Amino acid sequence: MIDLHTHSLYSDGTMSPLELVDYAADHGVNTLALTDHDTVAGVSECMSIALSKGMNFISGIELSVNWSNKVIHVVGLGIDIKNRNLLNLIDKQQLMRDERARNIAIQLEESMGLKNGYNKACEIATGGLIARPHFAKILIQEGYCKDMKTAFTKYLKRGRSGYVRTQWVDLRECIATIVNSGGVAVLAHPKRYKFTRTKLLELLIDFKEVGGKAIEVIAGMASNDEVSYLSSLCNKFDLLASVGSDFHGKDLTPYSMKRLRALPEQCKSIMQILQ
Ligand code: AMP
Ligand code: MN
Ligand code: MN
Ligand code: MN
Repeated sequence: MIDLHTHSLYSDGTMSPLELVDYAADHGVNTLALTDHDTVAGVSECMSIALSKGMNFISGIELSVNWSNKVIHVVGLGIDIKNRNLLNLIDKQQLMRDERARNIAIQLEESMGLKNGYNKACEIATGGLIARPHFAKILIQEGYCKDMKTAFTKYLKRGRSGYVRTQWVDLRECIATIVNSGGVAVLAHPKRYKFTRTKLLELLIDFKEVGGKAIEVIAGMASNDEVSYLSSLCNKFDLLASVGSDFHGKDLTPYSMKRLRALPEQCKSIMQILQ
């Protein structure tokens, strides 16, 4: 089994690279990529553990991107984690995350009286990088909501009191940087954005034009219908297909790695250009 989209405690996952590699091995994964949000801090540690256990490893990252007034996620695979341009981009994204976290904290304090949110988020952000699930955790701990899903729907998603617009990198620069660092750009979980068909087609046209090579066809908890729709888009746009559980931890995403499947036969796998 191949899994080219996973998270560790270096971003908003709950497992160390060692725990992640063991969990992946237990789920039949023999090719793994670590793709933490806007960081490569866990990549070398994860690579040496994976290789020592006889697992193929691909270095990766998941970048937050502004496109057409929306936020999308692009996974970079096979990147050189020492590439200067890539490291500069990561620095910028992390500065944005920090500034956003301070603003989320201010808004949550003003709207509902949550105290000291920024410092609390820093304390629980195991990789030093703050993502919205860290705020979700605080909101749950302090009794504002019962679970992660509610934290997002009530407070953290676009339109809610804790949402802060952020100037992430644009699609062209994101993909150029991935390519410049020797990597391949993959559109993460295309169905998660809840775009209309037309909007998704527009995105794929832009994505292709600026050098995107693949889309996740088996993505997280995607249904069989979604998988066949996405594989038809691969054919239409001559894109390669990727597979990624988007695993974040046993509690956060208990089924995502269990639901990994092989790609539909008509798809050309991204593995063709990664090995
Ligand atoms: P951020 O990159 O800081 O905006 O955080 C995005 C992350 O929050 C995603 O990668 C998911 O891990 C998590 N997330 C987003 N939406 C939801 C949701 N509705 N329920 C649970 N987790 C979510
Ligand atoms: Mn995440
Ligand atoms: Mn994502
Ligand atoms: Mn992800």
